[in-house]
Amino acid sequence: MKILVINSGSSSLKFQVIDSETERVLAKGLCERIGIDGRFTYKTDTGVSLKERVPMEDHKQAVHTILDTLSDPDRGVIRAFSEIDVVGHRLVHGGEKFTGSVVISEEVIHAMTECNDLAPLHNPANLVGVEACRQLMPDTLMVGVFDTAFNQTMEPKAFLYGLPYKYYERHKIRRYGFHGISHKYVSRRAAQFMGQDPGRVKTIVCHLGNGASICAVKYGQVVDNSMGFTPLEGLVMGTRCGDVDAGALEYLAKKEDLDIRQIVAILNQESGVLGISKNFSSDFRELKDAEIKYHEKAALAREIFAYRVAKYVGSYAAAMNGVDNIVFTAGIGENDSDIREEICSYLEYLGIAIDEVKNREQAEAVKISDGTSRVNVLVIKTNEELEIAREAAAVAEGLV
Ligand code: ADP
Repeated sequence: MKILVINSGSSSLKFQVIDSETERVLAKGLCERIGIDGRFTYKTDTGVSLKERVPMEDHKQAVHTILDTLSDPDRGVIRAFSEIDVVGHRLVHGGEKFTGSVVISEEVIHAMTECNDLAPLHNPANLVGVEACRQLMPDTLMVGVFDTAFNQTMEPKAFLYGLPYKYYERHKIRRYGFHGISHKYVSRRAAQFMGQDPGRVKTIVCHLGNGASICAVKYGQVVDNSMGFTPLEGLVMGTRCGDVDAGALEYLAKKEDLDIRQIVAILNQESGVLGISKNFSSDFRELKDAEIKYHEKAALAREIFAYRVAKYVGSYAAAMNGVDNIVFTAGIGENDSDIREEICSYLEYLGIAIDEVKNREQAEAVKISDGTSRVNVLVIKTNEELEIAREAAAVAEGLV
């Protein structure tokens, strides 16, 4: 099957065409600045590479550009739109309603719209992409793959906050956890790489990118996830604060005369390593370079980041009563060997020992713990698009 994977944001739309049998990426690209001045980037596995300005007033025009290019006799990888068997859409928030991937129907769109309040930045933007595809490919099967679905196996003891229960009942305030597509892909790939049965291992996945989360996966099911009701909770991130005492926020609001919207904007956009480094950078490469030049707060920001990751890993080892695999993934997790080394230095009590040479290797998957280590430590490149294509193919196959 040929699967078109769509990840639609408010002004951008990423796509890939994946052959589900060979898992080869036939083409991929990105529409940016939709509704502004339109940029289109496109690459195929046959060597076509484009970067051009294309006016795109809305997401429908963006999808049109993608489909026209994909089916272009010179630049394309298919002969007609109809060669796309399934479109797999990345959808951020499925609330408690969606515990797996689904065929997108009117009812699903309605149910998702009801979750818009839970993810006001992401869900409406995802739905605009879905609508654009439905209009241009009315006969093609659309499958929704949720970022929250994999985390739906958490038990109430993990997902409930210590708030009055009525707020969960009335407003569904609870931990949802995010990055589920990545955590699922990476935890399974780790088991496969190690020759283990995913249903028999305890894995902690550290997805460390601009947005960062840790997930405890026991015997293939999520036990806990560091992100919460929103993707703000948990680790210190690029610009997000992670865990913070809610009491401090009222104090800050009073002292700085801020309202709740201003506070939330500070927590999401001005905090994390950016805020700690006194606005030096949210980018870990820049922070590392600055550290070398003795920029004190840049070093502190990285130190806090690593410490918080180690604390979560320790707590999730406790939550699962043990851990077999610890896996690093995403921009920082895959590339920053110093951070990995620092995090692992807190985990010697778990019997973890890192091979310094392996830790500097670059590969799709690599085991960086040494022969004496009681826990496998791995670095695995995440591949959310492939996971979406797999899910979309599985849903489509289930219908045949
Ligand atoms: P997101 O998808 O959440 O936007 P990414 O997974 O792309 O984030 O990760 C972005 C982060 O990865 C940035 O902080 C960036 O600095 C960091 N990063 C990327 N490459 C490297 C590298 N070679 N060394 C250290 N950090 C890196």
